[in-house]
Amino acid sequence: MTRIWNFSAGPATLPEAVLRQAQAELLDWHGVGASIMEMSHRGQYFTEVIQTAEANLRELLAIPQNYKVLFLQGGATLQFSAVPMNLLNGRSADYVATGTWSKKAHQEAGRIGKARLAGSTEQAGQPADGFIRLPRQDELNLDPQAAYLHLCTNETIHGVEFLSEARLPQAPANVPIVADMSSHILSRPVEISRYGLIYAGAQKNIAPSGLTLVIVREDLMGHAAMNIPRLLDYKTQAENDSMLNTPTTFAIYMAGLVFQWLKAQGGLPRMAEINRKKAALLYAAIDNSQGFYTNPVAPECRSLMNIPFRLPCVEQEAEFVRASEAAGFMGLKGHKSVGGIRASLYNAMPLAGVEALARFMREFSRQHG
Ligand SMILES: *Cc1c(COP(=O)(O)O)cnc(C)c1O
Repeated sequence: MTRIWNFSAGPATLPEAVLRQAQAELLDWHGVGASIMEMSHRGQYFTEVIQTAEANLRELLAIPQNYKVLFLQGGATLQFSAVPMNLLNGRSADYVATGTWSKKAHQEAGRIGKARLAGSTEQAGQPADGFIRLPRQDELNLDPQAAYLHLCTNETIHGVEFLSEARLPQAPANVPIVADMSSHILSRPVEISRYGLIYAGAQKNIAPSGLTLVIVREDLMGHAAMNIPRLLDYKTQAENDSMLNTPTTFAIYMAGLVFQWLKAQGGLPRMAEINRKKAALLYAAIDNSQGFYTNPVAPECRSLMNIPFRLPCVEQEAEFVRASEAAGFMGLKGHKSVGGIRASLYNAMPLAGVEALARFMREFSRQHG
């Protein structure tokens, strides 16, 4: 069996050690004689799995006691609706558009209530070049009465990232920041207390698809409009330990294995170090190609997780994808909305995979440049 280098944006590569452990435990979890997939979510075994997963996640991210961790379903996309349903409470919220995902979050929130566009870095021109930077504070028109300020802290399609909390916009006093961290959660330590609510679909940097993590400050719960579905109400979910109905047990189990793996690697400071190294390698392969490969994003907000780049023409991009697949790579085709190439360098992608891709890129540009 050969595992190829999988650069897919999501569902994405998982740590090989985790897949092997899941394989070893698949038929008989811990000597119980049944798969974790086959057990009641209310039984003692799964309870142990979800509680350990939460404890390890809290430790990895240093989540303060006054935040709840929820293991939900519906993807980040359902959170585009659940966030305003829970937090708006008749008020208005501010959205900053820095790419496709924050734009979608804004549109979806507008179906629920009042969602203002407080700023956008979209520029006319090629769709791939539409979002290439973060907004300056003086470009934002922030509402001091907003229920929250929504950001997507890593734009998976455009490769634009808020690389630290120091880069976040200054929100007005008492306006909590809500962050879609789907594609970079756990890639580095995060100051959780800078956010009121964080959400993330698991299939980028955590686990298989089906699981959505929500980390929410307690005082932001319990303000939902009376008529929202109970499944979408953070307070009800928190009171029921994310088990108001059957949770996505296998994805939670896999997330738990990944959290253990992250701790064994040395935790998030170590992952951040490796992630910086991987991204530096790939950006160097782009920037040192005499213009054969190009990435338009401003250097101070180039994503460490999702790196989109272009070749001189679409024919060469198609040939690059074809040749990369023949050479043992997968998932390098850019998102269909913007085209080009995209390499996603999540935690589970080893440095050796990025080194192999950089070598392939140099060879390809030598032959086609
Ligand atoms: C993938 C992605 C989404 C959509 O996630 P689903 O789980 O498919 O709903 C939303 N936001 C970001 C930043 C993403 O990367």
